[in-house]
Amino acid sequence: MSDKVKKEGPGKRGMIFAEPTIFERGAPGRQGYSLPEDEIPAVDPAKEIDAALLRREAPLLPEVSELDVVRHFTRLSQWNYSIDTGLTPLGSCTMKYNPKVNEEVARMSGFVKLHPQAPVADIQGALELMFHLQHYLAVISGMDAATLQPAAGAQGEFAGLLMIRAHHAAQGNPRKKILIPDSAHGTNPASAAACGYKVVTLKTGPDGVLSADAVAAAMDEETAGIMITNPNTLGLFETHMAEIAKLVHDKGGLVYCDGANQNALVGMARVGDMGVDVLHFNLHKTFTTPHGGGGPGSGAVAVKKVLEPYLPVPTVVRRGEHFDWDYDRPKSIGKVKAFFGNFGMLVRAYTYIREMGAEGLRQVSQRAVLNANYVRKSLEADFHLAYPQVCMHECVFSDKIQKKFGVTTADIAKRMMDYGYHPPTIYFPLVVPGALMVETTETESPQTLDRFIKAMKEIARECREEPETVKAAPHVPKVRRLDEVKAAKEPKFVYVPKNP
Ligand SMILES: *Cc1c(COP(=O)(O)O)cnc(C)c1O
Repeated sequence: MSDKVKKEGPGKRGMIFAEPTIFERGAPGRQGYSLPEDEIPAVDPAKEIDAALLRREAPLLPEVSELDVVRHFTRLSQWNYSIDTGLTPLGSCTMKYNPKVNEEVARMSGFVKLHPQAPVADIQGALELMFHLQHYLAVISGMDAATLQPAAGAQGEFAGLLMIRAHHAAQGNPRKKILIPDSAHGTNPASAAACGYKVVTLKTGPDGVLSADAVAAAMDEETAGIMITNPNTLGLFETHMAEIAKLVHDKGGLVYCDGANQNALVGMARVGDMGVDVLHFNLHKTFTTPHGGGGPGSGAVAVKKVLEPYLPVPTVVRRGEHFDWDYDRPKSIGKVKAFFGNFGMLVRAYTYIREMGAEGLRQVSQRAVLNANYVRKSLEADFHLAYPQVCMHECVFSDKIQKKFGVTTADIAKRMMDYGYHPPTIYFPLVVPGALMVETTETESPQTLDRFIKAMKEIARECREEPETVKAAPHVPKVRRLDEVKAAKEPKFVYVPKNP
């Protein structure tokens, strides 16, 4: 076979086809539909529309047949690596399996065909679902009330901080600063800055957790509060949480908990009992609404009584036998999202919680923590652990051992693809140089974990004995090492009109 055929022909690797972009498929004039003759007489756009408003050239649109479309998207779907096709050990992302029953329920016509402006009498079922979901989330986290409106964890942070700000403003001073440990997710300082706060970074202690002393030294009456992730992004439980909350409260501040890592706590511990005033959930992480494809998410936020008046409008309330929107909330921060949040995600999360029940949710966190510690113990001789103690739902390795052989975290991540595994989260958290952050979640079986561990041990051996193989990885995927900067800066297909 000539190189050209190998490269461009359909059977690039056996029966896995090289797929061009949709723009490279098709031909001018090719159509995927045929419509009956139009009864309305055609008009000449040049006569009817001001010349200045007319396009000078046709837009660049793919001209393809139905079969072209079906093959194109079917092939792309087969190229996808997803949680339905394999383990995705992306630390901090909680890539657990999303049960299909959630999809069944979310696709019920009674939910799918609802109009967001339908009268309250016609949407009682949807309101009842939202009412109960607000309640479940408050109960699970030990809080008093919740909003389902934010569309993502980061937006939940933003909403939560706006509420903290509103609370302080109502006392006469919105305050100026927010304390955030250096192990925080990047969205935390970004949200604080977006709310007009100055970020004060606190150093994580040598044991990987935040000390009460570090908080005591920084907390003052110009500080609105603290944002803390528990378990933190090193996968460690913040053991001084209650003491830290007390220090912050004593100076009139409030405590925000980033709840993206609730998968380690659900059913076992409630952040409300640790002094937290406001917490966001990532329903798309902990409560199995799909994520990773850039689709809708949900960053529901639960609050203590002190912040309840500031929740976004509307909340969902029960009035006697009926459910209703409550817009009569004069202290509310207002709306943070069109309509009422990503409703389909709420249906999935509700279904999951009902399906699991209290005991099921308890087992989620127990097994997630067990799996993470199994991976940690099994690989501790092969990959360096910055914090070797018992972890929660994820563990953070680094490339410290492999660096001696000239191999880096990025190389290891690329090599994992050759073994059929999605790379873990890499170079995060920033406090661990060359971090490889592994979160396998509770939904992976011991057999899957053993296969993963075996592959990682094999890669560790290769790093010692044949580092060049690892440094040139990946060898198997369709595309090898991409120039990631170039790929971002010079995408292959950008429509630039010739005659703007
Ligand atoms: C995922 C994550 C976030 C952000 O959540 P999004 O839903 O992606 O906006 C914030 N903090 C932590 C610790 C996370 O893991």
